[in-house]
Amino acid sequence: MSAYDELIAHARQTEALAQVAGRLGWDQQTVMPRGANAQRSEEMAALEEVLHARRTDPRLGELLTQAEAPDAPAAANLREIARDYARNTRVPARLAAELARLTPLAQSAWEEARRADDVAAFLPWLEQMVALRREEGQAIANGGDPYDALMADYEPETDSDTVAATFARMRPRLVALREAVLGAEAPPPLTGHFPQEGQLRLARRLAEHFGYDFTRGRIDLAVHPFSSGSGTDVRITTRVAVEEPFNCFFSTIHEVGHAAYEQGVDATHLLTPIGRGVSMGAHESQSRIYENQLGRSRAFTSWLHGAMVQEFGALSVADADAFYAAVNRVHSGFIRTEADEIQYNLHIMLRFDLERALIRGKLEPADLEEAWNARFKADFGYPVDRPANGVLQDVHWSVGLFGYFPTYSLGNIYAGCLHQALRAAVPDLDAQLAKGDLAAATGWLREKVQRFGALRPPRETIAHACDGAAPHEGPLMEYLEAKFTDLYRL
Ligand code: ZN
Repeated sequence: MSAYDELIAHARQTEALAQVAGRLGWDQQTVMPRGANAQRSEEMAALEEVLHARRTDPRLGELLTQAEAPDAPAAANLREIARDYARNTRVPARLAAELARLTPLAQSAWEEARRADDVAAFLPWLEQMVALRREEGQAIANGGDPYDALMADYEPETDSDTVAATFARMRPRLVALREAVLGAEAPPPLTGHFPQEGQLRLARRLAEHFGYDFTRGRIDLAVHPFSSGSGTDVRITTRVAVEEPFNCFFSTIHEVGHAAYEQGVDATHLLTPIGRGVSMGAHESQSRIYENQLGRSRAFTSWLHGAMVQEFGALSVADADAFYAAVNRVHSGFIRTEADEIQYNLHIMLRFDLERALIRGKLEPADLEEAWNARFKADFGYPVDRPANGVLQDVHWSVGLFGYFPTYSLGNIYAGCLHQALRAAVPDLDAQLAKGDLAAATGWLREKVQRFGALRPPRETIAHACDGAAPHEGPLMEYLEAKFTDLYRL
């Protein structure tokens, strides 16, 4: 057995175990009996320990010095294995254990603090979490930037200075667009009562139209929609609010985008390091283009309008045009997860700047709330009314996810680039979308992005699909400005 073959065999087995751990996580959020909590956390901890030992096995270090890649996919596998190994072995076992111990405690402290609108109660937990992540970032960075090192866990081979410069170019344009839109007359929202069975029936139809393979996946209900798994077992969840059907439909389409990426990777890469989406940003590019550029387009919503009338009878909005306006309605609000396509990115930029300052030691947790409120007022035009709608709204920082937020907007930027290339490749796309036919669009994404998995680093993955053009914010900004200028007659 060659050193490379031995490495791949090891990696496949580690990934198989990681998939089992992921499926336990899926089970926990969907069908696990309530009483199983304590036992489940012991089961998960046991698996984590096995995984950690495998990922830091010194034998990997020896094999990496000997292994030679026979072809491009093998070279990419070696790149992924080497990066993970270097990262995992730089984190002292004591620090990994402290983070594992702190995370569930900090998360429940955050839940409690958010419920009580009590920033001071969460502060000691946040201080501990920031201290440990600063230390971890420094350990992984090995002399480099600690925030970049943490961000690389979600978006490898991308530096935060480039991201910051991109965001700085986008921000004034987004603020101006938001102001113009909120100054114009708002279209009426869709109102009414939409029973759960009907919503779930239509959600399944949407998943099928967008190419979700039910023989290798399933849809269940969960509090928070998510996608999990890889290869031949990729599951998604959705949720239903009887008065807000778009929540169910567009979160389903979003998760189908994530799932399509995992289901779309070439079967030959199954369970190998490149047999998965290459980064969270690349993943979000798939979920966002499915949800927004395709799902919320004028053409596709005209089909969705018909499908909703068929399922629920007459709607509160007059026609397909009014329906399109209701789907894309922009309104003031505090919550990132409820934001429209324009304001969503402003939410991300705020979090990115603050968390980068926190990890770099330029902002202390005690000053975070004040910094958040000042920035929110500047970008959104109105003050935060209470901490649960402000600095306490997201779970991420309580579980130590620093460096994750920018991947949402990177996904939007990548989606903008892919959308532009897709439109050029499929000139009659709108005619197809108006019939609810996504085959050409999803086929193009599978051919250009999904099937390669992590063969190329994230930015190269997108550039490959866009005739070599490096990803940048231009296409997304032009798309947003054109769409909302037209919709709000600016
Ligand atoms: Zn997503």
